[in-house]
Amino acid sequence: MIAGHFGFAAVVKGRERSAPLWMLMLASVWLDIVFVPLFLAGKETMHSVPSHSGYGAAVIYADYTHSIVGALVLSAILTTFCWPIWGRRSAIVIGLVAVSHWVLDLIVHRADMPVLPANLGHLPRLGWGLWRFPMLSASLEALLVLMGAGFYWGAARAISIQAGRETRWAAFVSILIAVCGLGILGLDVTSR
Ligand SMILES: [Zn+2]
Repeated sequence: MIAGHFGFAAVVKGRERSAPLWMLMLASVWLDIVFVPLFLAGKETMHSVPSHSGYGAAVIYADYTHSIVGALVLSAILTTFCWPIWGRRSAIVIGLVAVSHWVLDLIVHRADMPVLPANLGHLPRLGWGLWRFPMLSASLEALLVLMGAGFYWGAARAISIQAGRETRWAAFVSILIAVCGLGILGLDVTSR
């Protein structure tokens, strides 16, 4: 899931003016950004599900970045970094958006996300496995993208009108969110 995370970031941007959209989008995939070097180093791994391919057909052992504790620590690091730049409120919102990644992943992942880093204590792994139903899962992502574009449009339009500016820019950005989000989802769904 990538598009769904971006969509959620845009939903938040519709309510939270001071945090920049690009930072909220970066926060929404922060756990996956940290996953990349760990994956390349072989510390976190990804396996395809037998008899399936393409969208959602993966079991991902991201045992540090996608453990509950790991996700909270990474989000706290991001909040700490953003605090001096955008202030307390925005930094906390950015941190919560980073945590939202874990919550959205919980819905789609196939019971592969541990509680503690490195799956210490071998507690049950979490994930409700919506990826087993690719159509449902892709629909949820599309819904998040469209909600994000809609919420962004509503907020940006109101701000433009208030400031006596044209609303064209707000419309352009919300259309961009919808097109890019659905484009990324399309690539994800048709990948194999
Ligand atoms: Zn993830």
